[in-house]
Amino acid sequence: MKTYDKLFYDGQWQDAQSSDYSDVINTANEEVIAKVVRASHKDVDQAVAAAKAAFDQWNNTSPETRAKYIEKIKKGIEDRQDEIADTMVQELGASKTFAKKGQVPQSLNEIQGTLDEFKNFNFEEEVDNATIIKEGYGVVACVTPWNYPMNQIQRKITPALLAGNTVVVNPATNTPLTAIIYAEIIEEAGLPKGVFNLVTGSGSDTGDYLTKHPDVSVVSFTGSTAVGKGLYENAATTVKKLVLELGGKSPMVYLKGGDLQLAVKSAASTVLDNQGQTCSALTRLLVPKDELERTKEVIQDYYKDIKVGDPAEDDTRVGPMVSEDQMNTVLDYIQKGIDEGANVFLGGNRLNRKGYFVEPTVFTDVTNDMTIAQEEIFGPVLVVITYDTQEEAVKIANDSSYGLSGAVVGPEKEAMDVARQLKTGNITVNGGARSPKAPFGGYKQSGIGRENGLYGLEDYLEVKALFK
Ligand code: NAP
Ligand code: MG
Repeated sequence: MKTYDKLFYDGQWQDAQSSDYSDVINTANEEVIAKVVRASHKDVDQAVAAAKAAFDQWNNTSPETRAKYIEKIKKGIEDRQDEIADTMVQELGASKTFAKKGQVPQSLNEIQGTLDEFKNFNFEEEVDNATIIKEGYGVVACVTPWNYPMNQIQRKITPALLAGNTVVVNPATNTPLTAIIYAEIIEEAGLPKGVFNLVTGSGSDTGDYLTKHPDVSVVSFTGSTAVGKGLYENAATTVKKLVLELGGKSPMVYLKGGDLQLAVKSAASTVLDNQGQTCSALTRLLVPKDELERTKEVIQDYYKDIKVGDPAEDDTRVGPMVSEDQMNTVLDYIQKGIDEGANVFLGGNRLNRKGYFVEPTVFTDVTNDMTIAQEEIFGPVLVVITYDTQEEAVKIANDSSYGLSGAVVGPEKEAMDVARQLKTGNITVNGGARSPKAPFGGYKQSGIGRENGLYGLEDYLEVKALFK
């Protein structure tokens, strides 16, 4: 077992002024694999001071220079991709296949997509007699969740740094090891000191203190809506800019005449890969009432070969939940579904083995007012809801406090028509692939702002009008 007692700030690994540690657990066997120091408020002060001191110079480098550093970071991720994937298997419980073929390539694609777009971005433009100048804000505090331990950091760092800001990152307590590798990659890439800083430690202490810090200009957070709401208050201390990527309860709307296999596969994949711990997961499958029996057959067929087990094995699709807490949350939701009258069609239990495993679970007889249809479960749980008319399908899909993602499968014209009516930030139609250059983010309580491409960049840019 390794102990990590250093924090990365001001260009080097520094001794933490703290003797508090968090355990990192291998979630498949419940063993402690590392201890990671929790930064004290003094440590956070120093990391923020380093970021503040580095800002002017970094903000004044050319966009090309900043892009070169991001390219180097990307190269560093490429070089260490197997190690990164293995780390995610251990601390997150992602299956090896998903870590290697999903998580890591997603980060590389998104960095490349943003770099491609960035080449054509103008930091200055003319409007009437004004020159409009865009530049970094200053220090960005990034608080990230554990579900995509590298990509959630990347999605903030890449645009924030390209825009000219400096950053202090507080990663999730469950998955600090991937974040530490990221910091090592940045050290190796030779970024000027103070541009990137990492302080491990709990969100409720280190993250809370960081996001209230008077020298922080932007708070960028990905995580639960509950914590996001609290960060509004922290941001108010000095009127900080806020970027929030929060939860979701996204619908997959299947329309008669469409490819039912595709609809089931698309929804099921998002609740099986990463154990359903994906904010954009399509957790509500909406089907016409008279297609329910056929839908159940397709689901049964798709789920019959899914292997749940040791995430380090090549043929495992579903690994353990990230933590005991997360497992219990999921099991509580399953119980609530049963109590409120839904029918467990598949799964429903914890696996009888070491590790935090929950069976892939599918509920039928679900109505949209039930807790399992309204609240984000963040586990391998799919709910099937039936509807009579397309109008009703749209109404059910939009009857949610969230609006992050969604999907429609059906005859082209009708599917596009329904997609336009959904109140959500991302919608795939008939399995359309997501582009890393397109914006990602949510309507309603799913967040504020967008990530990826130039849309992500804009959230980290202050705007000045200079009249001549
Ligand atoms: P969470 O409790 O909100 O945690 C997310 C991060 O915030 C962690 O680093 C956490 O630290 C930190 N944090 C907790 N309390 C804080 C506070 N008072 N001040 C500052 N930071 C604080 O979320 P989670 O339950 O771990 O993660 C799952 C949730 O994230 C789901 O709801 C999911 O939808 C959402 N999510 C959204 C997106 C998106 O892109 N929209 C992506 C991924 C996840 P600790 O690790 O120490 O708890
Ligand atoms: Mg948490």
